[in-house]
Amino acid sequence: MAQYGSSDGWRGDAACLGTDLVLWSEPGAPSAEAARLCRDCPVRRECVTEDLPARWPAGVRAGLAEDVREPLHAAYVPWRAAIDRRHTALLRQAARTNDRAARGLIRDLAAALVAEADALTGYLVAFVVHADDATYETARLVYLTELAGRLAAEAAAATEATTPAIERTRPALFAAAHQVADLAAPSTPPVPSSLAGAA
Ligand code: SF4
Repeated sequence: MAQYGSSDGWRGDAACLGTDLVLWSEPGAPSAEAARLCRDCPVRRECVTEDLPARWPAGVRAGLAEDVREPLHAAYVPWRAAIDRRHTALLRQAARTNDRAARGLIRDLAAALVAEADALTGYLVAFVVHADDATYETARLVYLTELAGRLAAEAAAATEATTPAIERTRPALFAAAHQVADLAAPSTPPVPSSLAGAA
């Protein structure tokens, strides 16, 4: 039997480590065994907030089948690309800035934009997989903290981090999060106001 997983870092504690690769690499809904392992996994939070958004891998992750995750993936890619383009533009702007202090502020803003994007991704994923209350609340607070950090960095640098492309792609991301949450559990509660307000 080909075994699944890696023992690096938190993955060493994953419930899927050493299980049959087939459980995690086949298309379609998670098997009862995969769903049970994900539900009880001690590192589901890490899987949800780090691995899933970072890799969008094939097969089952965090209890979600690939096709269930697909709408979120399709919306995530253009949004994240817009973030990455803006990040690159800010770094170029910093490189052209002669004033050292101003250059640092623009670089700080570029970093804050990415930190906010990472935090929002974790928040959305916690929502769509119906993470436990503690995980969800942690993801929400991290996002709100990073949002405040990005706004403060904008004020300090006197430069806006967001662009029309980012604003245009973000509503689709939230819509996809709702769609996926509904697919994962049809009795999805209403979106939290803090998430809706993030649009
Ligand atoms: S939640 Fe993630 S790390 Fe845990 S068993 Fe499921 S796929 Fe593996």
